[in-house]
Amino acid sequence: MTVYDQHNRPLQDLRISVTDRCNFRCRYCMPEEIFNKDYEFLPTKDILSATEIERISRLFIDLGVRKLRITGGEPLLRKDLTEIIRRLAALDAEDISLTTNGSLLRNKASELREAGLQRITVSLDALDDETFLNMNGRRSRITPVLEGIAAAAAAGLDVKVNMVVQKGVNEHAVLPMVEYFRNEGHILRMVEYMDVGNTNGWNREHVVSKQELLDRIGSQWPLEPIAPNYPGEVASRYRFVDGRGEIGLISSVTDAFCSTCTRARLSASGMLYTCLFAVKGHDLRKLLRSEADDAMLREQVHAIWSGRTDQYSLERELGRTSHGKVEMSHIGG
Ligand code: SAM
Ligand code: SF4
Ligand code: SF4
Repeated sequence: MTVYDQHNRPLQDLRISVTDRCNFRCRYCMPEEIFNKDYEFLPTKDILSATEIERISRLFIDLGVRKLRITGGEPLLRKDLTEIIRRLAALDAEDISLTTNGSLLRNKASELREAGLQRITVSLDALDDETFLNMNGRRSRITPVLEGIAAAAAAGLDVKVNMVVQKGVNEHAVLPMVEYFRNEGHILRMVEYMDVGNTNGWNREHVVSKQELLDRIGSQWPLEPIAPNYPGEVASRYRFVDGRGEIGLISSVTDAFCSTCTRARLSASGMLYTCLFAVKGHDLRKLLRSEADDAMLREQVHAIWSGRTDQYSLERELGRTSHGKVEMSHIGG
């Protein structure tokens, strides 16, 4: 079965946030001034259990979802993460992946792989401690993350690295990152800094565009575009002309890809969002904890996706933006 939205986009991916907590305070996501000791994170009772996540994922798969991605907050903070992956791996999805800051990965990678995880994306914004500490709220140096990446590769996980590039903050880290991960044999993807949530003080001037990145990297190591791995792939792919690997560019600000957006997002508390920049979610937890049977839940998700009209990044280009958006740490990017 395939469900299409109002712009004829099929529902194909589900991103599941398993916690709203994080051991980092990246300024572009959870700035310390707001996410401090006074901030009220979700109480455990409000967070979906492994059983609830499994049930809702199965229903999404019935509706055509093929790929599941676990995210957060920081998913490795969740004690039953391996159990969640084991349950999801037993379902009929094509692919299960995880996005993590990598700081707690070293001792967990092989366990996650054994539970059925196939792919992992590790977020890392620089290769020098000072820049990295400055960006993550002084929570972690580089070494634990690099060790996590090494452990994931050794465990047989397909590893990609995501870097958010911010003007004047970590631009200088772009070429060293490209060189390092090209040598390591991992694909590095550079993400344009986005105006997610309401707390990061985003300004278009802070964005380093896809084109600027391509120009800078290409002048050092010539690049050529290559075809996407599948229709609707978010990153545009480029390979090094010298044959030593590829990079990806995720350009949600300067080159929006809403027309092929097939992703639904489930927050840790069971709210369904049909756009990363959504203002309003749909409460699936209430239904999951009611007498509603699977057919009723499927019907509800079907109705939500069928009515979907979101294309925030395209609208941003037209000068329209919204207020009161959901926070990135809530729905996981
Ligand atoms: N904590 C995990 C991590 O950092 O990988 C998973 C959750 S995090 C919200 C998911 C991704 O969103 C990370 O790769 C992060 O760099 C990215 N992200 C967060 N805020 C962003 C922003 N304002 N612009 C672009 N990417 C952002
Ligand atoms: Fe935490 Fe990831 Fe957000 Fe950084 S980007 S604060 S690691 S959730
Ligand atoms: Fe999808 Fe919304 Fe991002 Fe557009 S802005 S690509 S609709 S999540």
